Amino acid sequence: MLISAFGVYLNSKLINPLVFYTSLHAICWPIDGLLIGILLLCSRRNWPWIMAGYMITTGTQLRLLGQPLSQVAGDVGCNVFEMVFAAAMLPGFTNLSDWLRRPGLILRFSVVVLIGAPLIPAVPWSAYTHVHLGEEFWSTVQHWVSGDALGIALFTPLVLVLASRETYLLLRPGQRLKTLVMFGLLLGTSWFIFHQTAYPVAFLIFPILVLMVDRVGFPGAVLAVNLVTIIAAHGTIGGMGPFMFVQGHHEPYRIMTLQAYLTIAMVMSFAITLTARDRDDFQEQLKLALQQMEVLATRDGLTGLGNRRLFDQTLDAEWGRARRQGMSIGLLLLDVDYFKSYNDMYGHLAGDHCLCAIASSFGTHLKRAGDLAARYGGEEFVVLLPGATLEDASVIAESIRKGVEALGLEHKGNATGVVTISVGFSAVVPGTVRPSQRLIAAADEALYAAKQGGRNRGVSASSHVPEACEA
Ligand code: GH3
Ligand code: MG
Ligand code: MG
Repeated sequence: MLISAFGVYLNSKLINPLVFYTSLHAICWPIDGLLIGILLLCSRRNWPWIMAGYMITTGTQLRLLGQPLSQVAGDVGCNVFEMVFAAAMLPGFTNLSDWLRRPGLILRFSVVVLIGAPLIPAVPWSAYTHVHLGEEFWSTVQHWVSGDALGIALFTPLVLVLASRETYLLLRPGQRLKTLVMFGLLLGTSWFIFHQTAYPVAFLIFPILVLMVDRVGFPGAVLAVNLVTIIAAHGTIGGMGPFMFVQGHHEPYRIMTLQAYLTIAMVMSFAITLTARDRDDFQEQLKLALQQMEVLATRDGLTGLGNRRLFDQTLDAEWGRARRQGMSIGLLLLDVDYFKSYNDMYGHLAGDHCLCAIASSFGTHLKRAGDLAARYGGEEFVVLLPGATLEDASVIAESIRKGVEALGLEHKGNATGVVTISVGFSAVVPGTVRPSQRLIAAADEALYAAKQGGRNRGVSASSHVPEACEA
């Protein structure tokens, strides 16, 4: 109650003079828009207090101006209905980004709130003033709706924008200059539009607003439309600007055209913001989907290691690099011993778990950033070791083999009683003609030798295919 009374006090002491000083009073009714914004910022529990504060202070003000009680009650009641209806029709406000993403916002704001909310009380009020004060029905309806619609279009977003942290980021060091340039451009253009009578160039404001939404976001655009309104009101009331070209039946026709113009400018800023946000969200989702696809395309689904495609690509790239730099490149081929019988004894699912456990043990033995472990196919794995000599490959092969044995995964079909692997390894300094496939073939032949030699061991390619290895 106290807060709302203070709000209305502020309105009469600060906002009203400002509204009069800037000629805004001639074209819109700001208090409803301001209070709808405040209602959206507060929880619904507090709405009755805010409205009670409004009713008491505004009612007293109008009574002091000499209006009869029935007229004051009708006026205040219609405005309260309008504000509560509009605020209830809009989504609750948590932060600007989320609020602007709420479904149906643009339709609710432009049709239900800007047209519906003022129209519903305007009709009974205009009927009342027609009967009791002899005023023209339709012109009262039009006057009420166009003034309130513009007041809501300008001031409700203004309150939300001023209550958002995002708005003040427009003044952060990296952004400040851009903000100043954009506002300078906007102020210059709108001053030109509304303070001359030679060219009817009202449309010039729209490309600037599109640019504003793009460069200084929705908060910048809302502040921009409010500033344009002040300049437009000042110019038009002073007999200048494009709306002097409007040849209406009566003077208020120009003001109504200006009101529609400014309301459309705000609704358009909303629409462009929402379209730009949809586009940004879509781009973000697309980027994520591409990243996921890239992972899916290069990772093995069971073990999470690189897949055959990633291995082939990496081998090609590392082979070329090693050749240019005259560096050695090492390769291990690893195959699980007696894995067919493991599957037969423990089931295929246990076999899958076993492959995952083996695959996860590789990482601890691979120290260099460029080392790559991949699933080569079935229960065979491959490890690529850029820069490794045959000696380095031998050390790593042995530590991986021991690591798998140390996992202690029971395997009754293996003489050791646990799961083991055999490793064939090779290394080469790529020559100009020798293809990378020779490196794999050499490791494969060494792996065959390891199997022949009794399994659970590493065999160097040099002892079997010496022509393949130069390191
Ligand atoms: P060796 O010691 O000579 O290698 O004998 P082995 O029984 O391991 O023989 P081989 O390497 O030919 O066996 C491959 C088996 O690996 C056959 C297949 O059932 C099993 N296997 C291949 N891929 C998978 C997989 O993704 N999951 C499971 N559970 N088993 C697989
Ligand atoms: Mg195999
Ligand atoms: Mg095997």
